[in-house]
Amino acid sequence: VFDRRPLIAGNWKMNLDHMQGITFLQKLAWTLDDASHDFSRVEVSVFPPFTDLRGVQTLVKGDTLEVAYGGQDLSPEDSGAYTGDISGQFLNKLDCTYVLVGHSERRTIHAESDELLNRKVHAAYRHGLVPVLCVGEGLEIRQAGTHVEHTLEQLRRGVAGLTAEQAGDLVVAYEPVWAIGTGEVAGPEDAQEMCAAIRAELGSLFDAATAAKTRLLYGGSVKAANVASILRERDVDGVLVGGASLDVSEFASIVRFEQ
Ligand code: PEP
Repeated sequence: VFDRRPLIAGNWKMNLDHMQGITFLQKLAWTLDDASHDFSRVEVSVFPPFTDLRGVQTLVKGDTLEVAYGGQDLSPEDSGAYTGDISGQFLNKLDCTYVLVGHSERRTIHAESDELLNRKVHAAYRHGLVPVLCVGEGLEIRQAGTHVEHTLEQLRRGVAGLTAEQAGDLVVAYEPVWAIGTGEVAGPEDAQEMCAAIRAELGSLFDAATAAKTRLLYGGSVKAANVASILRERDVDGVLVGGASLDVSEFASIVRFEQ
C-alpha cells in the first residue's frame, strides 16, 4: 500500500579505515550480487568515516554499485574558519545522498543541541543532501514514561522551518539511546508506537501527504535475527544499524530481511 522504499542503513561510526571500507563494500557487493538483491525494492546505504568517502565514491561509480552513502555529520556552516568541520558542499561533491544529523553519540559526546541540529538539517538541504535526523530517548526518560513527548520535541525542534517538500524527503531515525550498542532491542511494538507518533506529528506540522512520504527508521541493536519482525510494523520503513553493519554477511542478511 505504501510506496516508501525500505532503507537499510549501516552506520560504521569510527570503524573501517579507507582500505577496510573498500574491501568491505566489495565483499558486500559480491554477496548481494550472488543473492540477486533487488536494490529497487530495498535501498542500501552506508555511513563511513569522512576519510573513506572519496574511495567509496570511486568504487561505487567504477563498479556501478547501487549502494548509496553519506557522511556521519556535517557543519551547519558552508565554508570558512571552522577547523575540523566538514561542509555539506564537500559531501555533495563526493556524491553523498544522505547525511546523519544528531546521532545520539553526537548529542552526548559533542553536546549537540536541537538548535544546532536544526541548522545542520537546513545546511544538508542547502547542499542537496537528505538528512537522516536521529531522535530518541535515554533510559531515564523511558523509565519515566515520557519518551514519546521527549522524542517528538526533538523532532519538532529538528525540523523547524522546513517546507513540506523538504519534510517529505527527510528520513527520521528513531533510536532509543538505551538500545544502542547494548544488545537491548526495543520491541517491534515500541518501534511502531514511536514511528506512528512521529508520523502523526509530521502530519500536524506539515500535512498528511507529507507524513505519508517521510521514511522512518528504527535503530538500536538491530541484527539479522530481529530485523524482519521490526520491519513488519506498518510505520517502520527501515533500520539504522551500528555494530551489525560491520560484518558483511550479517549486514547482507539484514538487507535481505524479506528472505
Ligand atoms: C547506531 O549507533 O545507530 C546503532 C543503532 O547502533 P547499534 O546497532 O550498534 O545498536
